[in-house]
Amino acid sequence: MQKKYLLAPGPTPVPPEALLAMAMPIIHHRAPDFLPVLDAAKKGLQWLYQTKNDVLILCATGTGGMVGSVTNFLSPGDDVLVINGGKFGERWTKICQAYGMKVEEIIVEWGHAVKPEQVEAALKKNPRIKAVFVQANETSTGVYHDIKSLASIVKKMDALFVVDAISALVAHDLRTDEWGIDVMVGGSQKGVMLPPGLAFVSVSDKAWKMADTAKTPKFYFNFKKERDNLAKNQTNFTSAVTLIIGLNASLKMLQEEGLENVLARHEKLAKATRAAVGALGLKLFPKESPSNALTAIEAPAGVDGQAIYKNLREKYGITGAGGQDKLKGKIFRIAHLGYADTFDVITAVAGIEMVLKGLGHPLKLGTGVGAAQEILMK
Ligand SMILES: *Cc1c(COP(=O)(O)O)cnc(C)c1O
Repeated sequence: MQKKYLLAPGPTPVPPEALLAMAMPIIHHRAPDFLPVLDAAKKGLQWLYQTKNDVLILCATGTGGMVGSVTNFLSPGDDVLVINGGKFGERWTKICQAYGMKVEEIIVEWGHAVKPEQVEAALKKNPRIKAVFVQANETSTGVYHDIKSLASIVKKMDALFVVDAISALVAHDLRTDEWGIDVMVGGSQKGVMLPPGLAFVSVSDKAWKMADTAKTPKFYFNFKKERDNLAKNQTNFTSAVTLIIGLNASLKMLQEEGLENVLARHEKLAKATRAAVGALGLKLFPKESPSNALTAIEAPAGVDGQAIYKNLREKYGITGAGGQDKLKGKIFRIAHLGYADTFDVITAVAGIEMVLKGLGHPLKLGTGVGAAQEILMK
């Protein structure tokens, strides 16, 4: 027997409260007993998103929410600006190109956060830009982009500000209304502690106005139809009934903890992980603005990052993540997102120490664990 620990940046562990709720018999999505379920999910998401805007609930992975956020607000040939600092930034570009938008990119060196001035300059240079796309967390590099500053810049322009917060929701404070985030995409299998299968998208008034003139063909992800259905506590097609029931259980846990405490927990877990990395003489991959949802760590010289990821899983049952694309073999990643607490970090750090030592990298066992403990005890 080997006990499993899921410490990947999605899917993340699902708490028993949500698992049990999802074990209940299915109910019909148009029957009266489902209406209060969707109503609670809708209100819970508005709480999590810190918004009065509609938050649509789609049956799709996060990428479905990203696709809908392109097709519902833009027309083919529109100019858009994509902040591309990793694999998920790249995905915005690919989606926009697939639907015929003219993409201008700000290429951010992997491991860095975009400089808000760059975005301001790009928008001033090309006033035709209709939307700015960014990740809150670029999950492939472990970097958090400064959404507050970016929002304050885009807000002054006609362009929409569209944020992929799929891995950042719950780990970072994202004030949709206060900061002026027009469209924000979330997903079920990250911070909200559910299986994959739901995408969430908040839509501002400014975005709804653009939806009126957007000409991109669409069928499944039709946000206006979703909005009209949501007003009646329905979804356009069959609701992902089970996942939405689970969502209410997860949201209830988060609400009982309180948003401030949830955010503080993530910050502390991230700090403890980073302290362990430093104490072990390892390097964080992010050169600035490391995420509170996950920690991307450089493999030490002479050690293959994929071997670290593989050994964690095979020897100790810990599933983290390796590096993607050009970072494959160079970094490994550990999440502390959603249903994560003190001993998830301890498990991860202890596992990393044992794996590195096993791979011949010199270190004193317990060094990283001790550094993490100091922070976790505060
Ligand atoms: C996980 C993730 C996604 C969504 O991926 P899906 O596989 O479609 O759920 C998108 N963006 C970011 C930043 C992510 O971390």
